[in-house]
Amino acid sequence: MNARPLSVFPVAITACLIALMTALSSQTPQPPALSLLSKDGRRPLPILLVGDQEFVALDDLAAAFQLTVREESIGAVTVSYKGKTIVLTPDQALASVSGRLVSLPAPPSRNGRRWLVPVEFISRALSLIYDSRLDLRKPSRLLVIGELRVPRITVRYDPLGGSGRLTIDATPRANATVSQDAEHLTIKFDADVIDASNPPLPAPGPAGLILGVRLVDATTLAVDLGPRFAGFKATSQTVDTTMRLVLDLLTTQTEATPAATSAVQPALQPAPDLPPSFGLAASAFRTIAIDPGHGGDDEGVKSADGLKEKDLTLAIARRIKSVIEARLGLRVLLTRDDDRNVPVDERTSVANNNKADLFISLHANGSMRPATTGAQIFLAAFDKDAAQAASGGGERVPAFGGGSREIELVPWDLAQTRHLDQSAAFADVLQQQFPDRVPLSTHPIDRAPLRVLESANMPAVLVELGYLTNAEQAKLLGSDAFQNAVVQSLFDAIVKFRDTLAAGGTR
Ligand SMILES: [Zn+2]
Repeated sequence: MNARPLSVFPVAITACLIALMTALSSQTPQPPALSLLSKDGRRPLPILLVGDQEFVALDDLAAAFQLTVREESIGAVTVSYKGKTIVLTPDQALASVSGRLVSLPAPPSRNGRRWLVPVEFISRALSLIYDSRLDLRKPSRLLVIGELRVPRITVRYDPLGGSGRLTIDATPRANATVSQDAEHLTIKFDADVIDASNPPLPAPGPAGLILGVRLVDATTLAVDLGPRFAGFKATSQTVDTTMRLVLDLLTTQTEATPAATSAVQPALQPAPDLPPSFGLAASAFRTIAIDPGHGGDDEGVKSADGLKEKDLTLAIARRIKSVIEARLGLRVLLTRDDDRNVPVDERTSVANNNKADLFISLHANGSMRPATTGAQIFLAAFDKDAAQAASGGGERVPAFGGGSREIELVPWDLAQTRHLDQSAAFADVLQQQFPDRVPLSTHPIDRAPLRVLESANMPAVLVELGYLTNAEQAKLLGSDAFQNAVVQSLFDAIVKFRDTLAAGGTR
């Protein structure tokens, strides 16, 4: 999901900075407590800062989760729950969970008579022995206990000429009902609690149309309406695991002349959230889907040092997103932006549903032979009959979700057949960027029947960045310098590919 934060007025930034600087100069701020959310309600769990690491006291955890904490004579601390035990050793950033070792970001720490453990102890160790699901959402300061429906909510505002649009995403999907009274739009989500704290809701609304968006209660948002608000139109669609609610806001000023409109609207109106103009190229090529391979319990390949493919691909995908969005003004969608397992078809759906112009799936390779090294770029492989059947062309059918969007009817697993030439062209351009930056395999471009590519309805490649089973390459893959080199290679390839399309390539 690509939700850009709302532009904030300069005056608000200044006030914020002053408040922040005052806080920093007077005292070290303690981080806010975690909120424990369960079917029984919400309770705070205090957090303590030691160095720059957030800790939680074991006695607080024991009280909240009915744990037994014991200090053993050998210096270890054991944490038990229903016959299962975690063993912690002072000075070691590790926990032994029923005999299995998990890493912690810092060793346990003693504070007087209390033992403190890093907050990640909850997700990495306690969750393995506890009998309800524990979902730690550190940026939102939430710990969700059990099967509660707690969708993350993001809100984005885009001005559209004299009117505007609110885009509200709920992940995982939650339906919402919208009602209106004299001063507000009320948006009630079908959920136990909504997680609307990260990123924050846009506070200063666009002048005149809406005044702001705020949380009213555990499951409800309110949009405070301004004097120019005249009505709204709501549409919803599902995108991957997200339910997207779009509110088109109608304004009393739509009939006014442009001069009159600009006189009414102060210059504080945020800049339109649109990519910068690249002439022809901008209209032809604006969205890229990056697919960080694996995730969640599917870790992919792992190096001897413990570098996991799922973490490597996500780290590189995030770098690509920030560089390309900042420097090219293109939209970059990630098929996952956290450590979870996304089914292969859902990954391609993100790209297809958002009409991405290019799909790049990122992976790292493994081999039984430790000597095997080098990056490879894969294209989808099809047998000839399948390719011919698919090139017969498409009917148009209404899209799911009740929208007015239409899709072309191509068998799902053959969508890629009509883009193979362009996929090969991109693979070629990408390969040209790799020498001196990313070591290539002796057979750098190959074809394989890869499901994640077969159903992509746009040029699509899968890149194996190197071998995690080769010690030297594993070290390289984990390095900042190499990850930047990968990003720069992809960046250059995307620019070249886009320019080829703009110059009237084969599209
Ligand atoms: Zn992989």
